[in-house]
Amino acid sequence: MLDITITRTTAPKQKPDENHLGFGHFYTDHMFIMDYTAGQGWHSPRVVPYQPLLLDPAAMVFHYAQESFEGLKAYRTAEGQVQLFRPNKNAERMQKTHERLCIPTIPVEDFVQAVKALVSVDADWVPSAPGTSLYLRPFTIATEAHLGVKPSDAYQFIIIASPSGAYYAEGLNPVKIYVEDEYVRAAPGGTGAIKCGGNYAASLAGQTKAHAMGYSQVLWLDGIERKYVEEVGSMNCFFKINGVIRTAPCSGTVLPGITRMSCIELLRDWGYTVDCETRLSIQEVMEAAQNGTLEEIFGTGTAAVVSPVGKLYYEGTEITVGNNEIGPVTQRLYDTLTGIQWGTLPDEKGWVVTI
Ligand SMILES: *Cc1c(COP(=O)(O)O)cnc(C)c1O
Repeated sequence: MLDITITRTTAPKQKPDENHLGFGHFYTDHMFIMDYTAGQGWHSPRVVPYQPLLLDPAAMVFHYAQESFEGLKAYRTAEGQVQLFRPNKNAERMQKTHERLCIPTIPVEDFVQAVKALVSVDADWVPSAPGTSLYLRPFTIATEAHLGVKPSDAYQFIIIASPSGAYYAEGLNPVKIYVEDEYVRAAPGGTGAIKCGGNYAASLAGQTKAHAMGYSQVLWLDGIERKYVEEVGSMNCFFKINGVIRTAPCSGTVLPGITRMSCIELLRDWGYTVDCETRLSIQEVMEAAQNGTLEEIFGTGTAAVVSPVGKLYYEGTEITVGNNEIGPVTQRLYDTLTGIQWGTLPDEKGWVVTI
């Protein structure tokens, strides 16, 4: 149990209009911070007014990118209750990220307690308009002032919160995806399976290229042969081909999404065959589109929940998936997950944690 000190703001901000929140534009009145000092461990957990950080310019995070992050949401139910979706999974994943980046780990219970503490203090920032939520961004940065390359001996673990709008203002719109065959997101032995800012820095060039060509997201291929599909931007990617649902295995280069694991579990409950062990080549996807067996493609992630893919561009050919309409499996997953998250469906799996 953390002994969290709470200092409330004396100057609460004006709350933004719940119908025009967008994503990542607004921040609540408070933030959580906890320090790590070598020899002392994690200490001084506190909720304080939202404020800028004061860091030495030599802080190691600026130079060698020793940084981890997570993403989860707090949802308001129709009864006014606030709840989280599987926050222990975010805590466990952050531990794996920290291990890979030589950052000391944070106990799962402490991570969840910290999230709950911030959400409790900022509870009136959890919006209630349909589809809105309070997006939570836990992250850890290396703060030791030192220019030699080595693991830092000081860190800060911080959580900020951002009220966010409905991801799909006009319903679930299929997105257009560009299959990247030049840049690589992740390679075996690298950091593709953990959540760190460096992965995103390296993905911007591909993303910029896709945007310039009129596509909203990049589908990354494996880093060795540029042959097998891996994931889309900040989402895992599923393909329904000839009745079977396929997604890339999490064997080191794919981020193990919590939405991904939840979708796999639901799909199996519903009787679908889900293959998340065999790699799927982009060639197979293109052939399935040609011979009419490509039924649905969708991305999964905390921000969008489930995102239907309507068009896919690969090496000069653009295919259309399911008439550029949302498929029945995609829709059912969306309805079920959002129903559990916002409390309109019963939480039969024990995925929800109330505040
Ligand atoms: C966060 C993330 C996902 C989705 O994970 P969820 O836990 O479902 O939100 C997928 N891919 C990448 C690269 C990510 O960073």
